[in-house]
Amino acid sequence: MSRPVVFVVEDEDSFVEALEIGLAREGFDVVVARDGQEALDRFAEVCPDLVLLDVMLPRRSGVDVCREIRRHSAVPIIMVTAKSSEIDTVVGLEVGADDYVTKPYRLRELVARMRAVMRRIPPSAGGVAGFDPVAEPGAAPGVIEAGDVMIDVDRHEVSVRGRPLRLPLKEFELLTMLVRHAGRVLTREVLIERIWGMDYVGDTKTLDVHIKRLRTKVELEPAAPVRIVTVRGLGYKFMADADA
Ligand code: CA
Repeated sequence: MSRPVVFVVEDEDSFVEALEIGLAREGFDVVVARDGQEALDRFAEVCPDLVLLDVMLPRRSGVDVCREIRRHSAVPIIMVTAKSSEIDTVVGLEVGADDYVTKPYRLRELVARMRAVMRRIPPSAGGVAGFDPVAEPGAAPGVIEAGDVMIDVDRHEVSVRGRPLRLPLKEFELLTMLVRHAGRVLTREVLIERIWGMDYVGDTKTLDVHIKRLRTKVELEPAAPVRIVTVRGLGYKFMADADA
């Protein structure tokens, strides 16, 4: 099994150098493009297992590049933003990125996110097939966990505080999306579009009803939620650390 190929699209020399050394040490092959247009021109030839995509790039922006790649590929994409503002998060998610990190980031955190994204994207979608050299030892594929919620995505099983929980499909999908992006705000629009589809955007009730039902199953005190919290004017956020 060859090493997974990471396509680093980044114009800042200091980041490129650090990533080339750091990611190689972590077992990845690193291919670099210095601007958005170069990334698109070389995407097919590079055939990456993961794309690490800076948002601010010469010629074509990272957002453009992400949208363009998503037209024909489900390859895992992690966007890199320069600001931690939530707008960047939302933009990153709406263009079809799987995750994002904010500069400056720690290599350890980045690699953890890369592995997580590659684990949950099926190999047929552009991930790593068969033996997975980047998997953390002991981590089951397709299992995501935050706080006291554990989700086995492949088996469609949820447990809260160690107790199995049966969820209808839409509640399962909603909880999975929130837990996958634990700690980040997901806007109402993004949640509705991803879970129910474009036709439901503008329908405010459906999402709220599902959130309410999930809270009765996940929260110790559904009336005072500490896991699935409302972010006023934006959407919802899953808190992995309820004491934070
Ligand atoms: Ca940049």
